[in-house]
Parts: sequence; C-alpha cells; structure tokens
Amino acid sequence: MPGGTSQTLRPFLWRATNLYPDTEIVSRNHDGLQRYTYSEYDARTCQLANALEAAGIETGDRVGTFCWNHSRHFETYFAVPSMGAQLHTINPLLPDAHIQYIVDNADDQLIFVDPSLAPKLAGAVADADDEFDGVDFVVMGSEESDDLEATPYESFIEDHESDYDWPDVDEDQPAGMCYTSGTTGNPKGVEYTQQMLWSHTMASQTPQGIPMADDDVVMPVVPMFHVNAWGMPFTATAGGAKQVFPGPSPEPEDLATLIEDEGVTISAGVPTVWLGLMDYCSENEVDLSALETVIVGGSAAPKSMIEWFDEQGVEVLHAWGMTETAPIGSVSHLKADLHDAASDTKIDKRSKQGLVVPGLEFKVVGDDGNEVAWNGEEFGELWIRGPWVTTEYFKRPEANETDFEDGWLKTGDVVTVDADGYMEIVDREKDVIKSGGEWISSVELENAIMAHDDVAEAAVVGVPHERWQERPVAFVVPGEDADRESLPDEIDDMLADEYPKWWLPDEIEFIKQVPKTATGKFSKKDIRQEYADQSLVDGQVPDEAAPDRD
Ligand code: AMP
Repeated sequence: MPGGTSQTLRPFLWRATNLYPDTEIVSRNHDGLQRYTYSEYDARTCQLANALEAAGIETGDRVGTFCWNHSRHFETYFAVPSMGAQLHTINPLLPDAHIQYIVDNADDQLIFVDPSLAPKLAGAVADADDEFDGVDFVVMGSEESDDLEATPYESFIEDHESDYDWPDVDEDQPAGMCYTSGTTGNPKGVEYTQQMLWSHTMASQTPQGIPMADDDVVMPVVPMFHVNAWGMPFTATAGGAKQVFPGPSPEPEDLATLIEDEGVTISAGVPTVWLGLMDYCSENEVDLSALETVIVGGSAAPKSMIEWFDEQGVEVLHAWGMTETAPIGSVSHLKADLHDAASDTKIDKRSKQGLVVPGLEFKVVGDDGNEVAWNGEEFGELWIRGPWVTTEYFKRPEANETDFEDGWLKTGDVVTVDADGYMEIVDREKDVIKSGGEWISSVELENAIMAHDDVAEAAVVGVPHERWQERPVAFVVPGEDADRESLPDEIDDMLADEYPKWWLPDEIEFIKQVPKTATGKFSKKDIRQEYADQSLVDGQVPDEAAPDRD
C-alpha cells in the first residue's frame, strides 16, 4: 500500500512553520540585515504563491531565479515548487551565451533577479535573439530597476493573501532545475522532481549525511544557484533550524560577522570560501566558538584546511556531489572503528571524498569495463544511482546516450575506493576546469583562441592553484607569421569580448606543438606534466601580458 501523501516539499514547510513559528531567518540583503520568523516566512511564501498564480504561472511552468543567497530567494524555494511550478535557479556567473541558451532551453516564464545582477541579466537580454521573448522579470526588492523592465518584488506580492491552499502536487512533478556547466558544449539541464528533493532532504538528515536540527543555525555560503545550495535550505527547514543567508557576494569579513553575531553552527561552501575565511581569521580576532561543522565540497578539501578547523574546534565534513546527484553523494564521516586510529590515518580518511550516503549505490568501472577492487589503488570511473540521482538530462538525447547506462549515472570522476569504503577522486575525465567552484570549459576557450588567425593550435588545461584550486593556462602554437609580442594581448582581448574575466587564462604559453594521444586528441595529461617541468614551453609570455587573474 502506498503512503497517505506523496513525497513532496510541502510537509517540510508545514513542520517548520507550525513547530518553529518563532525561529528566525536572517538575511544580509541589498538593503541591510533583515530578520523575520518562519511564521512570517510562511505568510510571505503564501503571498508569493498567490502572486505567481495571479501572474499566470501554472502547474509545470518554469520560474527562474538570478539571485544570491537571501530570504526573498528562499521564499521562491518553497512557493514555486509547492504551488506545482518548477524553480529554475540560474547561475549568474556564466557567460552571456550560456545564460541565453539555458533560459531558452528551460523556457522560463518569469525570472526573479537581484538588483546587483540586473545589469548582467540586462546585458544577456540585450544581446539575445529571441531567447527571452515572453519572459517577465521581477526585481528582488522594493525599488524598480534601472537596467530591466521589472516589477519590484515587494509590489509583486504586497496585495496578495497571506494564506494559500497548497495543492497535492504529484511526487513525479519536476520541482527544481539546475544546469551543469561541468561538460563540453552547452550546459546540461537536470530536473529535480518533488520526490528527488524529498528523498535528498531525508538522506541529508541522517547522521551519515549533513543533518540539521532545531538547535542549529545554518548558513549556506554555497550559492543558492548551485544545486539548491546543496539542499541546505530544504534540510534546515525540515529540521526547524534557524537560517542565515549571507547575501550578495559575501566577503570573509561578512561571513565572520554573521558567524559571530548570529551564532552559526553549520555552514557550507567550496574550499576557496574557507581559505578566504582562514586568511581573514589569521589577521583579525574572530570568535568561531559557535561554529561546529563546516561542509566543504565542490572541489577537494586540502588536509591543511581540515587540520586548521580542527584546531579551532570545528569539524570539517568533506562532501562530494554533483548537479546530477542533487547534490549529496558522499560525506567523509569517520567510521566508528576509526575513532581510535592514529591521527594521520584519521586525517587521511577525512580528506577523501568519503562514504556514500544512505540510499545510494555506486560502483567503480575500470577501462576494461570491469569493477575495480576496493584497495585504495585501482581506479576507474565512478558510477552512481539512487532516488535523487538523475537518470537523464533535459532535452539532451545525445548526452543521455553517453552519460547513463542501465540506470547508472556515469559521473566522469575517476576514483579509488579503499578497503574501508572511502572514495577518493584522483582525476576527472571531463575536459573542464573547476576554478573557485565554477566550471570553465577548456574546449570552448581552445576554440575561441584558435579562431585567431595567427594561432595554429591551442590547448587549455587547468593547473593547480592555491586559492582557486584550478586556473586555466593556455598553450598556444603561434602561426608562422604571428607577432609573438602582441599575440597574447590580442587573444586576451578577443576572449574578454565573449567571456567573463574569471574565464580568461592566467597565462598564455607558446609551445611548438600540442602533445597528442594515440587517437590524435590533445593530451592534457602530458601538457600538465610538461608544464610542471617547463619542458613544453617555447618562450615565456612577458609578465604584463599575462596578468594574475586574482
Ligand atoms: P557540479 O555539478 O558543478 O556540482 O560539479 C560536480 C563535480 O565537482 C564532480 O563531478 C567533481 O568533479 C567535482 N567535485 C565535487 N565535490 C568534490 C570534492 N569534494 N572533491 C573533488 N571534486 C569534487
């Protein structure tokens, strides 16, 4: 017999507003720090659902957001899916062409946009063909936007009832959507059904996940446009935790202040965020005593980070996941029988990507198609499956052919698993660079560079970087008549026309030829290796032509 209700997000909202009506939601907004309670959150979420209905949003319609982490964005998190529509969180850091593609591909009807991001969105709209036709805009705040024709959010909701009769939404109804750029070519859409978000929340709430309870104060630093801020707003609501949203482009000082003033107990973000906070703490007196857990994911957590937080009495939980896995896949909890192990062993285990969370299964497939042994040495591609792991991309049949097999998602991550079951990422099959938690397509950059008349060939690889984990470096074979002095600047200017600044290679190196694999593809492995020992480089670019992109 099936259960009495479907697996949807609605009960999480119901529980928080009825059991914890006075628990606070604090938000660093454009207009300062704001705070209200779950009870007021509920009322505003109902107003928003009524407003969306009045604006013609129907079951199954897609509603986009182009926003940082704040309480109004959080209101869309429950209002949109719980009225039966689908929340599409758009990454505002992407190149304009990608934004145009995904708005068109998702067929968004309405987009909520932050005032500070409105110029960026307006730029993408101005350059678009018909991708934004029929899309309405609502700007997050009380003021109109100078950049876009948009209704201010507060006017959008103000005249609407603070009650809403939430419907029984089918658990297979798509509730969320996020595009991954961890791919070559156009970003790929992943839809999250109500059931996927429900089961992801429940697995997160297990002790082997990233549980959040009513004595927690939860601050997602990971953007709400990155896989629902790793599901934290849902998990925190389910647990009745106080929530703290750090707002637009938070600096380490903002995070430190929020941790101190609001008593944050759990926070989450990519390593770059924590490196910034660690630096800030080394120069300023910061009280981290409330903080219990820091979830580090998106890129590998350095051991030194885990040790630094240990010294502050804060536990680092190293987590792995993907847009495709909604995202939590594994968390590096220490197994009970390792609690008394030597401290080196414990740090080794905790710095791996960890133990698969309850509810998922995985296997590691070697080059020969067979599963590799769990000995910490043999490696292969990680395949994963489970209730919150997607089984297809949105309108991308060709990717569905290659990236899935028999219900398994082929992650493209190359891993080992040790005898204790700890998974560790050792390489990536995807030809993309992850810099500060954001993807840069090396193939796209290569094609853009090779469009220059004086470039014969170009390969772009990610090289290790202390702060950003990886940065792109371009290896260019100049054409015979190329002016080597001016070429790097010309390439830079060309790229800057099309891509955000953070996509531009940190360095442009001239080489005689691009090393190739047996099948004629660029051998990125060889390039990385030869870059490390400088044997490939055929003339360093003058310093001023290759500015540090930090
Ligand atoms: P995204 O879909 O943008 O969330 O990116 C997912 C990818 O990020 C994974 O397939 C990994 O390549 C990488 N990733 C996520 N978490 C980690 C981690 N803890 N350590 C290393 N790489 C990670």
